[in-house]
Amino acid sequence: MDKNKKSRSKIIIVSNRLPVTINKKKDGLKIQQSPGGLATCLDSIQEEGKAIFVGWPGYWPSNDKEKKFIENNLINHHQCYPVFISPAEIGKYYYGFTNRTLWPLFHYFSTYCAYEESEWEAYKGVNQKFFQEVFKIASPQDIFWVHDYHLMLLPSLIREALPQSSIGFFLHIPFPSSEVFRMLPWRKEILEGLLGADLIGFHTYEYVRHFLSSVLRLLEYEHEFGAIHVDNRIIKVENFPMGIDSLRLEKLLQQPSIQKEIKKLEKKIWTEKRKIILSVDRLDYSKGIPQRLKGVELFLEKNSNWHDRFTYIMLCVPSRTKVRQYSLIKEEVDQLVGRINGRFGRPGWIPIHYMYRSLPFDKLLPLYYLSDVALVTPLRDGMNLVAKEFVASKRDNRGVLVLSETAGVASELGEALLVNVNNKEDLAAALTKALDMSEKEQIRRIEPMRKRLFENDVFHWARSFVERIKEVKKIQAQCEHQKLNEKWKKKLISDFRKSKNRLLLLDYDGTLVTFAIKPEQAKPDVGLKRLLYSLARDPHNNLVIVSGRDRRTLEQWLGKVPCGLVAEHGAWIKKDPRHEWEKQKRLSNDWKKQLRPILKVYEVRVPGSLVEEKEYGIAWHYRKANPELGQLRSSELFDYLNEFLANTDLQVMHGNKVIEVRVSGINKGNGVMPWLSENKWDFILALGDDWTDEDLFKILPKMAYSIKVSYGPSEARFYLESPQSTRNLLRELVRIHK
Ligand code: UDP
Repeated sequence: MDKNKKSRSKIIIVSNRLPVTINKKKDGLKIQQSPGGLATCLDSIQEEGKAIFVGWPGYWPSNDKEKKFIENNLINHHQCYPVFISPAEIGKYYYGFTNRTLWPLFHYFSTYCAYEESEWEAYKGVNQKFFQEVFKIASPQDIFWVHDYHLMLLPSLIREALPQSSIGFFLHIPFPSSEVFRMLPWRKEILEGLLGADLIGFHTYEYVRHFLSSVLRLLEYEHEFGAIHVDNRIIKVENFPMGIDSLRLEKLLQQPSIQKEIKKLEKKIWTEKRKIILSVDRLDYSKGIPQRLKGVELFLEKNSNWHDRFTYIMLCVPSRTKVRQYSLIKEEVDQLVGRINGRFGRPGWIPIHYMYRSLPFDKLLPLYYLSDVALVTPLRDGMNLVAKEFVASKRDNRGVLVLSETAGVASELGEALLVNVNNKEDLAAALTKALDMSEKEQIRRIEPMRKRLFENDVFHWARSFVERIKEVKKIQAQCEHQKLNEKWKKKLISDFRKSKNRLLLLDYDGTLVTFAIKPEQAKPDVGLKRLLYSLARDPHNNLVIVSGRDRRTLEQWLGKVPCGLVAEHGAWIKKDPRHEWEKQKRLSNDWKKQLRPILKVYEVRVPGSLVEEKEYGIAWHYRKANPELGQLRSSELFDYLNEFLANTDLQVMHGNKVIEVRVSGINKGNGVMPWLSENKWDFILALGDDWTDEDLFKILPKMAYSIKVSYGPSEARFYLESPQSTRNLLRELVRIHK
């Protein structure tokens, strides 16, 4: 590791492929730009010159001399640090686990998946290898940005070695529904690997949702507004739709060589008087090429008026040819093209001009520019840059994009003609509409999409992602600052001992006891009772239990402890065992009649949940329900109740696995006022674990020790990890040893 603390922080971008690839030619080693969407994006970031890259150069050196030569060249001239992966490793890790397991599964082709233990082992080994290379050049202040499904274990490997580091992860392919993801035998390891990151990014909200739901179901980590708390660290999960380098594309279009190429092609098109349809894909089963060809065939059957009036240029880039499914799809595509051209072609016209090769971008761009229609119809695609490049190239806003609704890019380019590629009727109809579309309509659709692409380009994407990593680190630092560490604990204990008039305000569930499945199971154990008695009997202490529970339960459980009780979040108070319960306000309960049936519907809809009636409140608990269903329905109910009760004086609270409605003005802050207003305290300690305790933390004087019993943003000054840590602290105060 680079231990030089003073060295400037750098951004280390780690991806399977480097932006450049080494190829061995007759006249020696050649460095070329790598193919594919991710490589195009990395290449653009590289041009900004702010990052260094770690990745596979696509080549295994034949000897040490060659290895050194490649290393020097890539490091010194391209800011690239190569990770050399042997042909055997590539076989199992790349052609195996990533291409035969992760890729098909994440694109919903689960029947194509192989689950080979040895390939998983190779995947782990290569992730480890990447880690070692990264670690050699890393310093703790660097920002690590790990890309894509090849390296999903890397974030936690970096986290283990550099616990304080800033790590982002971005997935360039879809994240499937949790029902599909859970089929993977190593699903937990993959999720845990990713959770080493501080920020996890996806192209769309849909993928974010799928990921959060997999984390909840498989690891049981809950999330709140896209934040997951793991080991006292906040991890943010957000969507960052990747852009393209629109400006570079625009400049390229103006270059004389490209203009010349455009003129040449234009002349040909004018002579032939044919419209141009274009598609550009890697030859991959996820791209839906056979389905599209069937749609084109149907279009030809139905629209004889279009025969001989268009040419469909179908560019298919060879890809992963060593994987069986890819050679099968190639055979299928070859046959379909042959069949369609045989059926409909005539002397002087072949409907499909099929090219099985890749083109350099400066040859591709004139095709984008001159095409009338682009067919981007994958079955599944994380994003799809071809669609964006086609739209961006339309300087006169003319052209039509036919786009599959299952491509990530569809969420941004909604003005395209959206199709379901499995429905060939739909596709044929869209193609007819595209070819017939008026110029006015074309402009109306392309213009706003193009504008969007220039505003949200790849630099905007990269900058927002890196900025967000920094922001997440700041949020984490704020929470870290609050931890009740040894130093603060000593100070708290010493202040406690010095003081004579102490007010101790303790929440019950989640603070003194851990949550139980049924609310009544959380009753105080012998140890807790002993602890509370010791605290309450000290004449210098005034102990108050401030709970959301109803007064009967509190009375039954804690009625004999010489302390104050606050029930139902402050609706009822009892100064000490000799006093009666007092109502905080005279409250009407008529509103409950209207609300009860609504909550009862949720009790039925979410098995395991239950409605609890309190004297001045009504609550729906879902702790026992399926976590995901509980979370989903609780958000729905919470939104609905807020809307429903908007103009009443009722308040809806979303506590820990509970939604509660009560009369506003009642909260724990007001509930403790009778004690707090006595104003004689020289020591105040307040402990609570959830949202309802925030009302109390808010009104405490500055000198008070307020402690949240869980990690996360809070009004409290400090936090502790668990009810166990609360009890340990209280035991130290009263000098009880376990
Ligand atoms: N591309 C290229 N030459 C070709 C075909 C494609 O340079 O012959 C580029 C294309 O411009 C785009 C990328 O490869 O930037 C393909 O990205 P996309 O997201 O559409 O698909 P992926 O290959 O990543 O699945």
